[in-house]
Amino acid sequence: MNSPEDMIIIRDLFKSFGAVEAVNGVNLNVGRGKVMVIIGPSGSGKSTLLRCINHLEIETSGEIWIDGEKLTRDQQQLNRIRADVGMVFQHFNLYPHLTVLENITLAQQIVRGRAKIEAIEIAEQQLSRVGILGKRDSFPTQLSGGQQQRVAIARALAMKPKIMLFDEPTSALDPEMIKEVLDVMLDLVKDGITMVVVTHEMGFARRAAHEVVFMDHGKIVEKANPETFFTNPQNERSQLFLSQIL
Ligand code: ADP
Ligand code: MG
Repeated sequence: MNSPEDMIIIRDLFKSFGAVEAVNGVNLNVGRGKVMVIIGPSGSGKSTLLRCINHLEIETSGEIWIDGEKLTRDQQQLNRIRADVGMVFQHFNLYPHLTVLENITLAQQIVRGRAKIEAIEIAEQQLSRVGILGKRDSFPTQLSGGQQQRVAIARALAMKPKIMLFDEPTSALDPEMIKEVLDVMLDLVKDGITMVVVTHEMGFARRAAHEVVFMDHGKIVEKANPETFFTNPQNERSQLFLSQIL
């Protein structure tokens, strides 16, 4: 069932790389303001699914709708969708030769067409939101991993996206820095941003997710609310996966 409440609708999505069916028939709806956590073993298609949602990958077949609009291959639409769908990666992907502030103002000016002064104002707002306004003139290499990831989050938020996608945002971080990034993400949940999060942080999933999806071999094999998923997983493969990581 589709409803105007759905921010993301994915229908019969397939994406293959040669003989590899990375995403193998996924159907999924994410409600406006909801948080969907995707878990599953390495190679199960989680990243490919996320990358299809903001068209970093073009699906082999199937449909994706973002806020009521079906994705096509139209270049103008693509640019708009990429601005509306922010993505945060495991490796922060900041520009090393730009300061923190420049990292956050660049796309705003190019993609959103904002004047520099407005872009700076928004960048500063987002830097305070993630708690590192004091680092605005630093370069990425002068920051800890946790700080760099918070810059990456601020950069995505500065575009005022409708959706935030997170692909294992804490997997490359030292343990003591994981919490500062998860805390920022929990704040976003409170603000009601629609989020799709691939993570192995089960504490975050329990606290933040409205729904948890378990993927294996390119398919969704279980979808449940976190309470049910963590206390009473129905699928054999989800049970095995949870027994290995919890
Ligand atoms: P996950 O994020 O769950 O670890 P991925 O979506 O990265 O899984 O990968 C799913 C499958 O697709 C894997 O078999 C992977 O090797 C393959 N794959 C992903 N991206 C590419 C690519 N660009 N070229 C070829 N194969 C790919
Ligand atoms: Mg991945």
